[in-house]
Amino acid sequence: MTPSGSSSRQRKVIFCDFDGTITENDNIVAIIKHFNPPGWESIVGDIVTQHKTVKQGVGELFRLLSTSHREKVIAYAISNARIRGGFTELLDYCKQHDIEFLVTSGGIDFFVYPLLAPYDIPLDHIYCNGSDFSGDRIEITWPNPCDDQCSNGCGMCKTAIIRRYPAEQYERILIGDSVTDFAGAKLVDLVFSRSHLTEKCKELGLPYKEYKTFHDVLTVLIERDQGEDANL
Ligand SMILES: [Mg+2]
Ligand SMILES: [Zn+2]
Repeated sequence: MTPSGSSSRQRKVIFCDFDGTITENDNIVAIIKHFNPPGWESIVGDIVTQHKTVKQGVGELFRLLSTSHREKVIAYAISNARIRGGFTELLDYCKQHDIEFLVTSGGIDFFVYPLLAPYDIPLDHIYCNGSDFSGDRIEITWPNPCDDQCSNGCGMCKTAIIRRYPAEQYERILIGDSVTDFAGAKLVDLVFSRSHLTEKCKELGLPYKEYKTFHDVLTVLIERDQGEDANL
């Protein structure tokens, strides 16, 4: 009675969003709101309604900020963020059960790495955008671009990373909350969703489980593991 499409022989890999998922709020929006440069609201609106690509919109948002505020921007981003409950427990479970845990974030290096530093995640398992403070304005850099199979202008392309883990070898699991997770959600075996991503999964008929904290995610993973063991 093994559920079709998943097998205990497949290694699990988790692709976990950062902003609004690992952290309770969206850090990019929080930074922009706090420093409040003229013109940010319409750019955020255009990203949410998908009138601008994420890459285009995020690049434009940070170009509104002067690099002279570098220290203030970084300090605000780090002090403002709250890590969602159960994150440590989920990471521990993944380690104990040989589940590969990747952070696939559309966030920016200057807050993603410091906020994840207390957790024992290998640096090559953290994907995010970069930043360049050498000019007058904050310039976002894009070390993880879309591959030839994605034309969404992701900036940090989650689907390109997901495709490196073939469905035949991996049970692919995505955890996310919003627009940057929509394309990846269509590829994976299971989505843990909240907020806009839940609505999208309903709309597209994708398999999803809603979560509020990572404890909820863990409960489902444990139940599924026990189900698989019972089928051996
Ligand atoms: Mg998010
Ligand atoms: Zn892409």
